[in-house]
Amino acid sequence: MASYTAPLRDMRFVYNELFSAEEITSLPGCEEATPDLVDAVLEEAAKLCQNELFPLNRIGDEEGCTWVDGDVTTPTGFKEAYEKYTQGGWNGLACAPEHGGQGMPGALNVLVEEMMCSSNISFGMYAGLTRGAYRALNAFASDELKERYLPRLASGEWSGTMCLTEPQCGTDLGLIRTRAEHDDDGNYALRGTKIFISAGEHDLTSNIIHLVLGRLPDAPAGIKGISLFVVPKFLPDASGEPGQRNSVSCASIENKMGIKASATCVMNFDGAKGWLVGEPHKGMQAMFTMMNDARLGVGMQGLGLAESAQQAAVEYARERLQGRSISGTKHEDKPADPIIVHPDIRRMLLTMRTFTEGARAMAAWIARQIDLRDRAGDDETRQAADDLVQLLTPIVKAYFSDCGFDMTNLCIQVYGGHGYIRENGVEQYARDARIAQIYEGANGIQALDLVGRKLPAHMGRYLRRFFHPVQAWIDDNTASPDMQPFVLPLAKAFGRLQLATGHIAQAGLKNPDEAGAAAAEYLKLFALVAFGYLWARMARIGLDKQSGDEAEFYSAKVATARFFMERILPQSSALFASIMAGGKTMMEFPEESF
Ligand SMILES: Cc1cc2nc3c(=O)[nH]c(=O)nc-3n(C[C@H](O)[C@H](O)[C@H](O)COP(=O)(O)OP(=O)(O)OC[C@H]3O[C@@H](n4cnc5c(N)ncnc54)[C@H](O)[C@@H]3O)c2cc1C
Repeated sequence: MASYTAPLRDMRFVYNELFSAEEITSLPGCEEATPDLVDAVLEEAAKLCQNELFPLNRIGDEEGCTWVDGDVTTPTGFKEAYEKYTQGGWNGLACAPEHGGQGMPGALNVLVEEMMCSSNISFGMYAGLTRGAYRALNAFASDELKERYLPRLASGEWSGTMCLTEPQCGTDLGLIRTRAEHDDDGNYALRGTKIFISAGEHDLTSNIIHLVLGRLPDAPAGIKGISLFVVPKFLPDASGEPGQRNSVSCASIENKMGIKASATCVMNFDGAKGWLVGEPHKGMQAMFTMMNDARLGVGMQGLGLAESAQQAAVEYARERLQGRSISGTKHEDKPADPIIVHPDIRRMLLTMRTFTEGARAMAAWIARQIDLRDRAGDDETRQAADDLVQLLTPIVKAYFSDCGFDMTNLCIQVYGGHGYIRENGVEQYARDARIAQIYEGANGIQALDLVGRKLPAHMGRYLRRFFHPVQAWIDDNTASPDMQPFVLPLAKAFGRLQLATGHIAQAGLKNPDEAGAAAAEYLKLFALVAFGYLWARMARIGLDKQSGDEAEFYSAKVATARFFMERILPQSSALFASIMAGGKTMMEFPEESF
């Protein structure tokens, strides 16, 4: 049976060494997030995830959620674990102190989030949606609504949802039909059906706060006519406690491929009382706060599951004895060598490792930018950070979740037939990872967002926030002899990215289908270059420290960086060729011939 140990050493590496801890502690409100405190928080989070959440992961998959007469029961042990999670203050780790949170930086929270995704992604969904609802309300709701909901969401006493999808409307939210009409007391009555609503109904919290997209009677057609409402399951009474039941109900839950312990609900709003969040018809702006947050969270699901899969694969590859090494027996004392000696197994293990460690570095980088955006003292720093977050969000969402699935699949391959057998626990990782490529905007849509919105934004300003530091770093390191194996491949791949960017900008102006046709490959090329940049920076640190106290850790970093540069980054060449070939072959293919 697979196990999970939080990768605390590598987490400390990205927090303290790859990026500077002082950059965080110098931000207003983060003074207390010293390396010692960060260490202590990570240790405690690891205990919660390893000892409480991970053991429930399999139970959650076996039992799933149960629906009876509109009530949903989560699997055995989830309620108790949720109580421990909220009592430990984990939900409010990064929430504001004025709402009862601990105000810790996002750069720390993202590491805790990774552990939760590794240990139990279904459990993490309830908490993740609650934090997303907290942030959307904090950014857009009136003071009265904030006072009513934020402390209870920060503590996790109440949970949140995100109600967008309807039967006729998934990607295209302009097709939303849910209606909101004025009721007698100046608020709104919502009518409509939402489908696929994660955590729409469950037994973990005493109230569920739905954030619902709907249309006002005078709404313009399409995406510009959508407003956001907060619709509680129980209407808070005068003292703020859950009171009268609202007219929102769960009609059924889905039977699905993975994340079985996360309730995916059909929700009916039958004149449910709701309050407008933000301005009329401006709901998408508010919902985007929640969605962008959720997109990064979904990226973390890919990383978290890839980490669990990698750990399981390494453990299995050390134990499983099959065949002899083709270059000569390595373990004479055993009837066969462990499969970890075989080149193909090593290829898979190192592919997984370059992804998990590279993705952890990238997640830490973007989380830091969010801290800078939200807390830095000067406008210029905040703007620069926000630009980078905007640019990198679709990349984190799509690339991490695509790789999350690919890496869980590689883990099954390392296990051979035993990986395909339920009892061994790793096929669940692949089933759980698959949804991350679809929800929060399918990955094809993320690629279109990158190419269609993020590249041209502000005449390429977002793009420059990435291109300039990468170019500067290459220039600074290009003369170092020990950095040649890292700087040269990075510079080549970066050159391809720059050329591809120019090509897409020009071809896409003449014919938007050309940009659409290149988008998926472009996103992957971009991700590879971002990983290359981070791997080269990690190699620099490793080279400087590999003769010190933790020689093994730093030497492994350098060796993994070399594997990335030599075996993974060259994929940029094939992606570049596909992009430059253009989209004619697909767009001229007659529709009737499919
Ligand atoms: C387990 C689960 C949990 C979910 N949780 C929630 C939730 O909590 N809240 C919520 O509101 N929703 C939720 N969803 C819904 C999810 O966000 C949608 O399924 C997703 O956005 C895709 O919508 P769709 O399924 O209707 O696919 P469609 O929109 O029909 O897309 C089908 C395919 O067409 C592609 N496509 C669509 N439009 C375009 C275009 N313009 N250009 C190029 N390609 C396009 C898509 O990329 C996709 O590959 C959940 C879904 C599942 C399965």
